[in-house]
Amino acid sequence: MSYDLHMSPDDFRRRGHQMVDWVADYLENIEQYPVISQVKPGEVRAALPAAAPEGPEPFETVLRDLDEIIMPGITHWQSPHWYAYFPANSSGPSLLGELAAAGLGVQGMLWATSPAATELETVVVDWMVDLLGLPTEWKTTGRGGGVIQMSASDSTLVALVTAREQAAAPTDTLVVYASDQTHSSLEKGARIAGFSHVRSIRTDAQFALDLAALQQAITADRDAGLIPAFVAVTVGTTATTAVDPVRQTATIATREGMWCHVDAAYAGSAMICPEFRHHQDGLDLVDSYTFNPHKWMLTNFDCNLYYVADRRPLLDAMSILPPYLRNEATLSGDVIDYRDWHVPLGRRFRSLKLWFVLRHYGAEGIRRFIREHVRLAQDLAGRLEADDRFELVAPHPFGLVVFRHTDGNEATAQLAKHLNSSGRVAVTPTMLGDATAIRVSIGSTRTTADHVDQLWSMIGELA
Ligand SMILES: *Cc1c(COP(=O)(O)O)cnc(C)c1O
Repeated sequence: MSYDLHMSPDDFRRRGHQMVDWVADYLENIEQYPVISQVKPGEVRAALPAAAPEGPEPFETVLRDLDEIIMPGITHWQSPHWYAYFPANSSGPSLLGELAAAGLGVQGMLWATSPAATELETVVVDWMVDLLGLPTEWKTTGRGGGVIQMSASDSTLVALVTAREQAAAPTDTLVVYASDQTHSSLEKGARIAGFSHVRSIRTDAQFALDLAALQQAITADRDAGLIPAFVAVTVGTTATTAVDPVRQTATIATREGMWCHVDAAYAGSAMICPEFRHHQDGLDLVDSYTFNPHKWMLTNFDCNLYYVADRRPLLDAMSILPPYLRNEATLSGDVIDYRDWHVPLGRRFRSLKLWFVLRHYGAEGIRRFIREHVRLAQDLAGRLEADDRFELVAPHPFGLVVFRHTDGNEATAQLAKHLNSSGRVAVTPTMLGDATAIRVSIGSTRTTADHVDQLWSMIGELA
């Protein structure tokens, strides 16, 4: 092999050290940047050449352009002043796990294409069952199992396709139910999976699924000759972290013969602390569960966990082999081919970074991390509640606080605008019914009490 074409091992080592320094410097100095990128649409693109280079370019010039052209167009999700959307955590061990996975560059679609990629994934998803207090049957040693996917959207799509196959009736007779606060990935997944009937069910004053309304919709659909096939339950909705009643919904699903899917994309991370698990009581009755360590569990995007209570329907739906050719080894759990557990064939070695994270922090470290954010959120909620200028608009069981200005929608929208244009913080304005509200999501890796104090001062000054 000639090194006039490739980067030599020595060069890679040198550049690699330089690149790690670059990332470490970035994270160390991240508070110097405006949190939300200030570039105008098209600005980054206009600064880049229209054609790819015909000849090689020195690495220095690539790094220079990274600093000068790319960095101004970055919104700093890792900033401790990041309160927008939900967190997208990263951490030292996670970044290093990513580096190791990229260095190995394996495709783990089959056990045989890299045994350790499959077996570490199995170990890690099984560990997580115990860490989150999920039903033991969901372990690979039970009837169920877990798999790492790219996103909660992918998991929900897989759940919908599995339910559709299970139902064994024409798809245009099947009905999907979810609350009006359910994440848009449910509707998108249902569309991709070919469902034509998706019912948006009313929520109660706490933004949780209204069981009476669900039952009414089911009865009306049965009367019309349709078949209830799928219900989504959210533990921690995106707008307010509302919690749907898991056990009662799952009981209705069991009675009606429907698939029951739990979306705990954000709040799932909190379940590593036993005191939050009452929010998902009833998991013993559900069919599938999804949660994102890539939100609030110190693990870089992408890392989503998908669990099923019974892996057979999943394999029936996702295996590219017809059922009569399936091998007993896969079903028995002796050899797992994770390509049969989701849509794509190729798969990254994602378990490596999660394993690095779990071993670096230990369960206790992650619990401390989660509890501190929840404490800070409860603290902020208390301050908002005690101030006449503000009102809370929803319960705040985890790290998200949703509030509004008591002067109304315009005052609330102005406050969100001023907070975001200050460059010092990022929050998300949202609508709940007719009311404008501000979401403050506390969960960034480096957010401390000092940062939240600064945010509170800014809210007070700008209100
Ligand atoms: C973030 C979120 C999703 C989407 O997660 P992706 O991994 O980006 O697909 C789905 N549901 C809920 C409740 C979420 O908060």
